[in-house]
Order: sequence, then C-alpha cells, then structure tokens
Amino acid sequence: MEVVFKNVFKRYGDFTAVDNLDLKVESGALHFLLGPSGCGKTTTLRMLAGLETVTEGQLFFDGKDVTKQPAADRGIGMVFQNYALWPHMTVYKNIEYGLKLRKLTADEVKQRIEDVLEITQLKNFVHRLPGQLSGGQQQRVALARALAIRPNVLLLDEPLSNLDAKLRSEMRDNILRIHKQTGITTVYVTHDQKEALSMGTSISVMHAGHLIQTASPRNLYNHPKTPFIAGFIGETNLIPGRVKSVQGNQSEIETGLGILKSNRMSEPMSVGAEVSVSIRPEAIAIDWGKSGQGENPLGLAVEHLTYLGESEQFLLRGDGDIGLKVNFYHAPEHSFHEGDQVTCFMPADDVLVLPPQVEMGPGT
Ligand code: ATP
Repeated sequence: MEVVFKNVFKRYGDFTAVDNLDLKVESGALHFLLGPSGCGKTTTLRMLAGLETVTEGQLFFDGKDVTKQPAADRGIGMVFQNYALWPHMTVYKNIEYGLKLRKLTADEVKQRIEDVLEITQLKNFVHRLPGQLSGGQQQRVALARALAIRPNVLLLDEPLSNLDAKLRSEMRDNILRIHKQTGITTVYVTHDQKEALSMGTSISVMHAGHLIQTASPRNLYNHPKTPFIAGFIGETNLIPGRVKSVQGNQSEIETGLGILKSNRMSEPMSVGAEVSVSIRPEAIAIDWGKSGQGENPLGLAVEHLTYLGESEQFLLRGDGDIGLKVNFYHAPEHSFHEGDQVTCFMPADDVLVLPPQVEMGPGT
C-alpha cells in the first residue's frame, strides 16, 4: 500500500508539531522517519494510524483520501517501544485478541496465528505469559500480534530501544527477514541513525517539525542537503565559510582553515554566499610520508588521540582554532603524539559545500 502525506500540518494550539509534511512512502518500502527527540516523528506515525487528527492537509492510502477515516478502518498494525502486551494472557491469547474483533471463522483465526508464530519463530512459546519471556521475545509477540491482522501498513515506533545491543541486532535481522517475507509497507520511527542506515529502503529526516530530506541511505550519507543532515547521519566536520570563486561545480571557499577547494556543491551558490563546508573524518588524509602532495594541504596540531580498536580518531586543531576530527584505519602504532604537528589533505571531491547552518528552534 502506498502512503502519501500532502501538505499535512499538526498543530497543538500555537505549537506546530508537524509543519507542511509532503511525503510519499512507496508500496513495500521499509521507510524510516529519523530525527532527534521532539522533531515530530511519533506525531506523524499517529496521524498515519488515525490515532491523531490531521489539522490541515490530506493523507492518502493507494490514492484514496483516508484523512478522516477512523483508525479501526485503516488496517494498521502497530508495535511500540514498550510492547503493550496483556500481562495476564499467554502469547497465543495475546495474538488471538486482536483477531477476535474481526469477522473471521475459528479456522481462519487459528491459521493466522500459526502463520505469524512461524514467521516470528515463537512456536515454542505459545503457552507462556509475557513475564516469562525475554525483552526480544516479547517484542516478537508484539510484532506477531500486529502482523496477524494482515495490516495494510505496519508501524514500528522505536521498537528496539528497550533491548540491549545484542538483542537489538538480532531483532533488526528478524524485522528485515519478516519485511522481506511479507512485503508489507512499513514505517519505522527511530532517532538511531545506524538503525535507519542499515535497515531502511528509504529514510526521511525530520527536524523541528519539518521534513528536511528523503532519500536512500546511501544518498543521504553521500549527498546530504543541509549541515544538520551531514552531522546527524554519520560524523562530519562542519566548517563555516564564504564562497570566493565558483566555476561549474568547482569552488574555492574562504574558511578559518584557509582557502579550501571543492568539487561538490549541494546546490548552486554564488560568490560571497555564506556556506558550511562538510568533510567526513574518514575522508581526511594525514601525510605520513611528509610527501607534501595532495589537495587542500593543512598544517595542524594533534590535540587529542582516541583509540577505537579498528581505528584511531585524531582531534586536530589549526591556527584559526578550528577543530577537525580525522579517523584513521590501520594507523601505525605510536605514529603521533598529542602536540605533534601534522600535514593533512582534504580531497576536493570529498569537500562538500552546503548552505549555512541555521537554527531551527525546538527539537534540535
Ligand atoms: P521522541 O523521539 O522524543 O518520541 P518525536 O520526534 O516522536 O520525539 P513527537 O512525539 O512527535 O516527537 O512530538 C513532537 C512535538 O509535539 C514535541 O515538541 C511534543 O512536545 C509536541 N506534542 C506532542 N503531543 C502533544 C500534545 N498532545 N500536546 C501538545 N504538544 C504535543
């Protein structure tokens, strides 16, 4: 089922929680709503489910206007962070509960429960009470219950945040497998960018009630439209600057680190425009051999070293007091010490020129 939000607003009194949302979730997508706490993700999900009214705008399921349709008629399955299982009912009864309200024969109910027990691998737990299950198993029951109604759209609201790291990773695999098997259009809310990047077929990043960008995980990481997204999706260094010259996609930017050459602009910009330069910590090269060859050479001091196992992170500082994070894989042992002077290069293909950083108010 394709889901479309058209110019949707949600206001609580004077406060706008969701501001002019235009979003198309393709049929069969595993679509993520990603953003910091308070940015409007849950409100968007609740409007989709019909649990919250739409103040202005329209919502469509497969082209049909469902803006005013009651929640019960939308065929939505929901899974919440806190599982929301009935504690006094067995796994079987918990799954059966949602089906009893539907017009199904006893055989149909039985068949559906068997199907979802199979898909969520819960067959051996049917007689247990939720209190006798691990967090991951409880979350699978919540998923089984949502799937049993054969929803048009499955909504997942921070489903993994109560689980420890190992269970979280297992549940990620489970959700991906189930999504593949069922093909149900799924909208998944999280503030965890790693979850969204590793699982999503598409991601919408929200900030302070606004949808900032929708793209595939790879596109979002490689082509962020704003400094907020560059910093929220993965790590980056953001350096304020001003355009000194432009020729096609190539530009020179005046910054506190000197003039930086760039081969990438997120949008056309003119000379004199204020910008924000983004460069990923893994894209900066340290000149181990002191060859002096490379684009955008910079002389910097090593302020701090953090050993991360597979890599080391250096915090470097230049004359203009601008700090730069640089990630190193396979750094030679004892290569540098705090206080050392180093030369770095920033390949112009990795120097991304973005619009300037703007304050977006609450939700940041
Ligand atoms: P989190 O990750 O913390 O759950 P979120 O992105 O899901 O955050 P929402 O729960 O959608 O954020 O809330 C968006 C904004 O709307 C918040 O500032 C919140 O305080 C506000 N809000 C939500 N529900 C109401 C309400 N019933 N009345 C007034 N304001 C509300």
